[in-house]
Amino acid sequence: MTVLVVEDEKGLAEAVGAILRREGYGTDIANDGKKGLELALNGSYDCIILDVMLPGMNGLDVLSYLRVKEIETPVLLLTALSETDDKIKGLDCGADDYMTKPFSMGELLARIRAMTRRRNTAPDINPKYGDITLDLKKAELICGSGSVVLGRKEFQMLELLISNSGQITTKEQFVTKIWGSDDESEYNNVEVYISFLRKKLAMLHSSVQIKTRRGIGYCLEGAK
Ligand code: CA
Repeated sequence: MTVLVVEDEKGLAEAVGAILRREGYGTDIANDGKKGLELALNGSYDCIILDVMLPGMNGLDVLSYLRVKEIETPVLLLTALSETDDKIKGLDCGADDYMTKPFSMGELLARIRAMTRRRNTAPDINPKYGDITLDLKKAELICGSGSVVLGRKEFQMLELLISNSGQITTKEQFVTKIWGSDDESEYNNVEVYISFLRKKLAMLHSSVQIKTRRGIGYCLEGAK
């Protein structure tokens, strides 16, 4: 287990590093935002402890950049400010947890254990049917080694079809659950998006097909 500590107060960074090493973690320390970002992008860490107020580049910007680059390492934000604003911003940027300074080392270790445990035992919740998988984080449809990004509605429709697999999903269900209305004029949209999804499934050479049950709705076929 390796932890990256990004903290410009050198005394604190070293104290945290020493405690972590004593607990058996490997540690790297960066004293400014840019160095922290560089290490986080290149290294593979199990957890990042990231101060918010940093010279060069602040912690929230580092975090946003990492998440844009799809680096999903758990991040524990450290903030000297007790303002809720910063905490909310941090969580919005993709932080997993935060702590307000000053904090006890015991609490820091407990939070790190919780974050790394959550990550290691996170169940694979991506919906699957036959040879296809929906990647919830990337909004991608995956089949074998191929993948394609789905639009929001396409994604929601396929997710609904998979969760209803073995039965028919009616046009009405699509419209109420995805468009949030019960207006029959939306039924044409359902047909349009179904045709997009069929094209994408065919493009990926999936054995899964969306079958039309005339006058009723749609269902998936092709799971062995
Ligand atoms: Ca600082």
